[in-house]
Amino acid sequence: VTVFDQLNSRPADSLLALIKAFQADDRPGKIDLGVGVYRDAMGRTPVMRAVKAAEQFLLETQDSKKYLGPEGDLQFVRLLEPIIFGNSPKFAQRLAGIQTPGGSGALRLGAELIQTANPSAKVLLGTPSWPNHKPIFASARLDVKEYAFVDLTSQQVTFESVVSALSSAREGDVVLLHCCCHNPTGIDFTMEQWREIADLLVAHRLVPFIDLAYQGLGDGLEQDAAPTRMILDAVEEALIAYSCDKNFGLYRERVGALYVVARNADDVRKAESNMAGLARVNWSMPPDHGAAIVKTILESPEMTAIWRTELEEMCRRINGNRAALAAASPELAFVSRQRGLFSNLSMRKETAVALRANHGIYMADSGRMNLAGMQPADAGAIVAALRAEGC
Ligand code: PMP
Repeated sequence: VTVFDQLNSRPADSLLALIKAFQADDRPGKIDLGVGVYRDAMGRTPVMRAVKAAEQFLLETQDSKKYLGPEGDLQFVRLLEPIIFGNSPKFAQRLAGIQTPGGSGALRLGAELIQTANPSAKVLLGTPSWPNHKPIFASARLDVKEYAFVDLTSQQVTFESVVSALSSAREGDVVLLHCCCHNPTGIDFTMEQWREIADLLVAHRLVPFIDLAYQGLGDGLEQDAAPTRMILDAVEEALIAYSCDKNFGLYRERVGALYVVARNADDVRKAESNMAGLARVNWSMPPDHGAAIVKTILESPEMTAIWRTELEEMCRRINGNRAALAAASPELAFVSRQRGLFSNLSMRKETAVALRANHGIYMADSGRMNLAGMQPADAGAIVAALRAEGC
């Protein structure tokens, strides 16, 4: 017996297969709504101008790459705080933060922190969700309890199922929440529903684990932060997994942070030391370059202004595409009410396959489409293809 012959292969990532299939397709009108990255009007995912300026600055001024420590660059962590939490929120004294390898690293670290503090906590996850959520929590040996939060046929939130899931949870259970730009559905709760969720969290003493991976790509930085701030104002304890990989276009640089809101200064210190210890045994220290870029941008009013303008432009383009699809078909009116990179049409896998084969329109088999993958002028072709395939 050898070690590796005892392994079973895992299924291939279907989105990566989709990229290859799209590249191999030589039809001129093909449209890629598959992969989850922002695309500009030329179909590119460019390095943002603010990022280029920061990299230039770093190239000229960075004089050492010595180790920083498991918590990464704490100046980066601090500079993000007003963007996420606003200026002087009332929980500011109860906040701890650590730099992580992307939002994924923040989720994993948060999961392990919960596992360390309260291993019997269940994680409530509204479905559908980002496919990596469940495995991340499960691999930290936490029990994940899924509940449907949305009906894709009607494209409506099924709020009673949210209320029922939260009401039947036990004190200390964790509730994963996409506080803007839901992946994969684009369906965000209304502010009123968020308020009800905050009340349920408080009433049942549940711990929100907020996943913020797309701030600024819904309605703008401030607007997208509103549900997060409202919830954090209400609860005693929370975790926030933040990603800069989308809103700074830094994807492969792996830029993120995990924040914890705790009850008092004592708990903050305990959370901080545990986060650092868990980081140490996972990746020792987070990669620096991307965080150094974000820090450089946020330390410079000029670069920050460029970044904000670029982000607003990205946001406008996505919402313009949403409006174009809605204008091309009344059945797709819901797309213009959804936010972020994605919407998830209700379709069978065979339909997604037929859209590729018969029309050169590529989306995930689940019916998830990336709204940044199209041009407004593509709306007619997309609607015609959907109608031809009976959806
Ligand atoms: N949360 C959600 C909802 C996401 O969609 C993603 C990335 N697709 C992440 C977290 C992780 O982001 P990162 O690439 O920064 O690890």
